[in-house]
Amino acid sequence: MQRKPSEKEEEYFARMEFEKRKKAEEEKQRKLAEEEKKKLKELHYMRCPKCGMGLIEIDYRGIRIDKCSACEGVWLDAGELEAVWKLEKTGFDKLFSVFKR
Ligand SMILES: [Zn+2]
Repeated sequence: MQRKPSEKEEEYFARMEFEKRKKAEEEKQRKLAEEEKKKLKELHYMRCPKCGMGLIEIDYRGIRIDKCSACEGVWLDAGELEAVWKLEKTGFDKLFSVFKR
């Protein structure tokens, strides 16, 4: 003969079940977010944030600057603004003369 589980036990098992499913759901969402991030990166990597066209990367004295091939916007990676800021005036002019046609 089986013993009927007490109310407390039923509550406990229901809560365990809920926690288990919640964890699985959170894991699913985390994976989805990662996939979405990966997809977005693939879609946007080396693309202009404004017009979506390809960026051209130039390297000047170790500073890598990305320039849009369409709208001519100029984009800097982390730390590059400070590096550009530290260039003396002639270096700065030379850097931007690279872009001039
Ligand atoms: Zn652009």
